[in-house]
Amino acid sequence: MKDRTLLMIPGPIEFDPAVLQALGAPTTSHVSPDFIETFGRALERMRDVWCAPSGQPFILVGSGTLAMDVVGANLVEPGDRALVLSTGVFGDRFEDLLSRYGADVTVIRTEPGETVDFEAADRALAGGDYKLITGTHVDTSTGVRIDAERFGTLGKQHGALTILDGVCSVAGEEIRQEAWGIDAVLTASQKAIGVPPGLALLVVSQNLLCRWGKRRTVVANYYADWTKWLPIMASYEKRVPSYFGTPAVNLVCALDVSLGQILDEGLDERFARHERFGRACRAAIEALGLDQIPTSADHAANTLTAPRYPEGVKGQDLLPKIREAGAILAGGLHPDIRTEYFRIGHMGATNAGDLLATVGAIEAGLHACGHAFDLGSGVAAAQSILFG
Ligand SMILES: *Cc1c(COP(=O)(O)O)cnc(C)c1O
Repeated sequence: MKDRTLLMIPGPIEFDPAVLQALGAPTTSHVSPDFIETFGRALERMRDVWCAPSGQPFILVGSGTLAMDVVGANLVEPGDRALVLSTGVFGDRFEDLLSRYGADVTVIRTEPGETVDFEAADRALAGGDYKLITGTHVDTSTGVRIDAERFGTLGKQHGALTILDGVCSVAGEEIRQEAWGIDAVLTASQKAIGVPPGLALLVVSQNLLCRWGKRRTVVANYYADWTKWLPIMASYEKRVPSYFGTPAVNLVCALDVSLGQILDEGLDERFARHERFGRACRAAIEALGLDQIPTSADHAANTLTAPRYPEGVKGQDLLPKIREAGAILAGGLHPDIRTEYFRIGHMGATNAGDLLATVGAIEAGLHACGHAFDLGSGVAAAQSILFG
């Protein structure tokens, strides 16, 4: 029997073979004509995937947290006011991060499973001069999605820059950065973008760059400073050699392949596929008699599902059994409810077979743990949405 376990956590995920193959090609110089062409094309493709035709893309070595840090380092000057809309662990991360750069941070935090209260955010913004607002499109610790279009509108109404953490959503959940007026949308390679960990990716608006250009102080973080990186990104797009810090050559080649696949699939088709997979997974979990962390399907993410353990079943017993049955899932992450739930990632190159095999493995695990349900009911519920 072949020894293959599906990686179904909310990143890293299952990757497409062509993407992995690009990663294994001989490494070229970061200023070779071939690589300059690849890097330049990847930047152009990012604009298409982000739906930000006049945005400025950045490809940096790092993870999603670095992408968050780069935005904080470049935008915050001591005393700037920032409003953090937090729907979980990754929202909270912005509070700590922006404070490091001297921001005066106000947090509007929701209970785990609830989405953003935009009316409260509106009131807070009306009562103060905020430079920026952060939101987490999908908070991976709760499986909650916020309304990204409304988030963009909120910023425009109050003249505040909008920073969207799209680490668990870009190329999975619908985002129209420019049409929705979002100033920065950031992500990491290993989630719905579909490339192994190692790249921090972001696209920022011209409006944001204009505000950034009015800084009174130098950016205190040397590596993050856009003064260093803007000429590099511009050079790659003009297909001329340049250097500041060595890019992750193989990862950029893999990124270019993955972005090409995303655009070939078509953004509308891709968003619809993720929506269908999200619905199928939630239906399966419901059929098995498990509750979920998001308090409404209207704000449940399509890139991951966050089921609660049923009565009498513990994560330390269930997750290893699901793994034995063929799928690696993630435990809880939110500190208030960590032991109460688990997480299933279903984004990027995940296909219907992967999802059904995962639901089957969850059934096997629940059955072994003594949870009572009709065997096959989860798979049937998912099937009826995937193929109904
Ligand atoms: C994974 C994740 C991050 C952190 O990204 P890293 O690559 O782990 O640094 C930030 N925000 C969200 C929403 C995430 O899902």
